[in-house]
Parts: sequence; structure tokens; C-alpha cells
Amino acid sequence: MASAARYLKAAQSIYIACHVMPDGDAVGSLVALGLTMQRLGKSCTTACADPVPAKYRFLAGVRDVVSRPPAAEEILVTVDVNAIDRLGSLYDEAIFHSRPVINVDHHVTNTLFGTVNLVQPLPSSAEIVYALLRHLKAPPDKDVAAALLTGLLTDTRCFRTGNVTARQLRTAVALTDAGISLAELTELLFNREPASTICLWGQALASAETQGRVIWTEIDREMMRRCRASASDADGLVSLLASTMGVDAALVLREKDDGRIEVSMRAGPGWDISGVAMQLGGGGHPRAAGCTVAGTMAAARERVLSAVENALREQGAVSSQQTAGSP
Ligand code: 5GP
Ligand code: MN
Repeated sequence: MASAARYLKAAQSIYIACHVMPDGDAVGSLVALGLTMQRLGKSCTTACADPVPAKYRFLAGVRDVVSRPPAAEEILVTVDVNAIDRLGSLYDEAIFHSRPVINVDHHVTNTLFGTVNLVQPLPSSAEIVYALLRHLKAPPDKDVAAALLTGLLTDTRCFRTGNVTARQLRTAVALTDAGISLAELTELLFNREPASTICLWGQALASAETQGRVIWTEIDREMMRRCRASASDADGLVSLLASTMGVDAALVLREKDDGRIEVSMRAGPGWDISGVAMQLGGGGHPRAAGCTVAGTMAAARERVLSAVENALREQGAVSSQQTAGSP
């Protein structure tokens, strides 16, 4: 924390980037840090390879987010990025090797690619940014608090994920004390789904299948086209599938524009599917992970389902051995 703060204090120009296909935590962490650095008088660029989804555009600072790689900025900061390839087209090997990189993230699968790795297994990256701002004695103003609370609310699905403790509730109280209306924010984040989202979820739910204790659904390009959907319309669907009674893991397989298959995975309490995601070239958290695989939908389904089933079988065997062996 102290080392990251020193780099931020010393730099006059800063480039901050989040991951491709940004979610609320990526966007919130990005603009919160960007707005604060500007307030501290620094020249600051905020960047994302993909456009910020419409539902987050109410946040201050989103309109200034660019999609270009770093240029002359003195230091580079990544937020919510678990591996450098998650920067997509923003990653430029020569530039990233020639400047200090501050890696601010909360994923257990983080590859620690930074010069400084501020990586803590909290429910959201926004909380780490919040701690960093407090360390810098630059407490959030209303706009920054709204961005940080957006990250905390979206990555915990409104405090419903299994990693939420009193600490997150305390942070939320502190952030609302900056003048945020929780009711207004949750209305904007959770109660205004675009029609394209409802269309896509309807089709995807209607064709969901189960095999053993795994539920999954598939979204192809034709479904995306019929619903005029974009990638962010699928966000959250996998969590709904994972809430099915009697299920240990849920998957959404979505065909991207380039034909590769994006896989979102969720697991129930006590399971860890981050290893499966890593094994398939992705990463994430024990209970929420993802990856992108090449090949047809059918091939991806076979590969991912068998990897998930193997992981559940192995972990189930370990937990039943532990139960048998415990007094
Ligand atoms: P989601 O299913 O919400 O897209 O992603 C769940 C988690 O897995 C997120 O924390 C995200 O950062 C991580 N994740 C999703 N897709 C990928 C991927 O392709 N590569 C890596 N490294 N992580 C991913
Ligand atoms: Mn996150």
C-alpha cells in the first residue's frame, strides 16, 4: 500500500487501465482513481479496450475513458486486472516493460505482473482503491464514492455473495456518508435492465440444461443478433443459473464476434472453480471465474463440462475424505 501510494504521489502523469469487457468494479475502480488523481493536480488518462456499458455511463469520469494504449505517461496502473492479457489492445509490451506498473486487484489468480502488486483477496477491487485513497489522504468526494460503491455493489451483487462480511457493510456506510443515496444507486445499477438483456436471458434460460449438479446454457451469435444484444447483456445471467436449487456449478458459454467461446463460471459454497478457469487459460475467484476458449460451441461445451465435473469430483472426494477422517 505504502509503495503504491509513493509511486502515485511522485508521478505527474498517470495512465490507469481496467480489463476488457469491463464490469461495474472495473469501471468504478478506474474512474474513482482517475478522478482523485486529477483532483490532486495530476495529468491522468483512464483507459479500457472496450466501451463502458451503458448502465455505468451515469458515473462521473466515464466520458473521459479512452481506448488507446499508454503513451508518455510516467507510471501505469491496472485495476481489477488479474493477468496482463486482460488489458486486451491496451497492452503494449515495450511500454509496459519500460515504466513502473502498479497492479491493483482482488483476484486470487492474479499473476503479480506489476512492479508493485497491491493484490488483496477482498470482494471487490473498489475496496482496495478506497483503502489506497485513504492512505493518500484523499478521501472520496461524492462522485468518487458513487464509483467505488458501484464496484462494491456490483461485485457482491448487492452484498449477496459468500465473501461479504461486516467490513464491506462498514465500507458501504462510509461511502454513503459522502452523500450518496443507496436507493438511487441500486435503482440505476440493478433495476434498469435494457430490453436486449431481458430478451437474451429469456432465450438463454429457456434452453438451459443440467447434467448431474452442473447447469449451463449456450448463447450463439444468432441469439445475440435476434436480441440486438452486446456482450454486457449476458452479465449476471450465470449467477441466476447458479441460484438453481441442487446445483453446484453454473456455466454460460457465449459465442463472441470472433467465433471464440467466452465461458462464465460460478460455483456454490465450498467449491473452487478458479483452477478450472486457469487450466483453460483464464482466471478469477474461487466461486466466480471465466475464460475464453477457441473452437466450436460443441467442443467448448465438452471441454469445459468435463473439466468442471472433474474438479467437482476431486474436490468432493477431498471433502468427503476430510469428513470421514475428522473426529
Ligand atoms: P464473469 O463470469 O463475471 O465474466 O467473470 C468472473 C470472474 O472471472 C471475473 O472476476 C473475471 O475477472 C474473471 N474472468 C472472466 N473471464 C476471464 C478470462 O478470460 N481470463 C481471466 N484471466 N479471467 C477471467
Ligand atoms: Mn472485480
